Amino acid sequence: MYGTDGKRYMDLISGIAVSNLGHCHPKVVQAVKDQADKYMHLMVYGEFVQSPQVKLAEKICSTLPENLNNIYFVNSGSEAVEGSLKLAKRFTGKTEIIYFSDAYHGSTHGALSLNGNEYFKRQFRPLLPETRKLRFNNIDDLRQISSQTAAVIIEPIQGEAGVNIPDEKFMKALAATCKEQRVLLIADEIQTGFGRTGKFWAFEHFNIQPDIILCAKGMGGGMPIGAFISSKEIMSSLADNPILGHITTFGGHPVCCAASLATIEAIEEEKLIEKVPAKEKLFKELLVHPSIKSIRSKGLMMAIEFDSFETVKEIISNGLENGILTDWFLHCNNSIRIAPPLIITETQIKEACEKLLNSIPLSKKD
Ligand code: PMP
Repeated sequence: MYGTDGKRYMDLISGIAVSNLGHCHPKVVQAVKDQADKYMHLMVYGEFVQSPQVKLAEKICSTLPENLNNIYFVNSGSEAVEGSLKLAKRFTGKTEIIYFSDAYHGSTHGALSLNGNEYFKRQFRPLLPETRKLRFNNIDDLRQISSQTAAVIIEPIQGEAGVNIPDEKFMKALAATCKEQRVLLIADEIQTGFGRTGKFWAFEHFNIQPDIILCAKGMGGGMPIGAFISSKEIMSSLADNPILGHITTFGGHPVCCAASLATIEAIEEEKLIEKVPAKEKLFKELLVHPSIKSIRSKGLMMAIEFDSFETVKEIISNGLENGILTDWFLHCNNSIRIAPPLIITETQIKEACEKLLNSIPLSKKD
């Protein structure tokens, strides 16, 4: 990225976890231009079959277990969350929604109701009724999932919490409890999806299968698009009574769908996901410094822990001076966020790490 003065910046956050292919990937740009030349908006509500939507849906399904075969395209992550909550209520006939401490699922009323941090909700109450917060990665709390629960929503790896990785045992217990209680398990893959964590979907790390998957962010290669995905059986419950259970004018915009298809094709052709673990390892090898307390990471989703928010702010600001763009987390203020484009090269990682280490305040170096 370049400032108006021509100054060069390395983007280490991909704004945020969106630009997995970097900025202006030629394949995505071409797909956008080609589709814009054909048509942009036609009609809503699915009256007409639009090939960019169908092709994208087919491609996404090819990355998923067989029964996750129905996709509803929307405009954003928050809208995917809203759609999934309505779907879970409609399909189960139940109303309670369970979420986790430090979760982030978006900023609309429903999604905000599931924010795991009260500070962000207080001024907007009343929010959605019948929501219940459990402690993330706490198996005992799963007992609170009951036959009254419609859905449990979870980020398989929590993003805004500062890259919080649950135990496989916890994720398996969660999936089993949901099955026992006939509760839908919603995996919010809005930040983790599309290769960010070294698998196409982060739920793959835990050998579980969610009932609904949400995606957005990296999905569009820089264009705005999201989706909620489920089985045909579950998704069909939105089809009637009322007809059009979720309505969106721009959801599945053909230009965004074309960009998203090109994004997946580029991820596959360039074998980007396969290369993620080696890149993660290199970052961790290079980021060694007495002030760094720990690094939490899954693939190229990383949190570098320091002693305080003051240090974090100073490093982010020094980083800008040194030509790197980093960020903090909403729910974890002692860590720096690193989520570079997946296309980052070994040479670029070395340059980025050197600049990051040089951005740590001098007083913290000894
Ligand atoms: N869920 C998660 C896990 C997210 O990280 C985000 C965005 N940070 C959202 C939902 C909301 O997405 P959007 O900003 O596109 O509404």
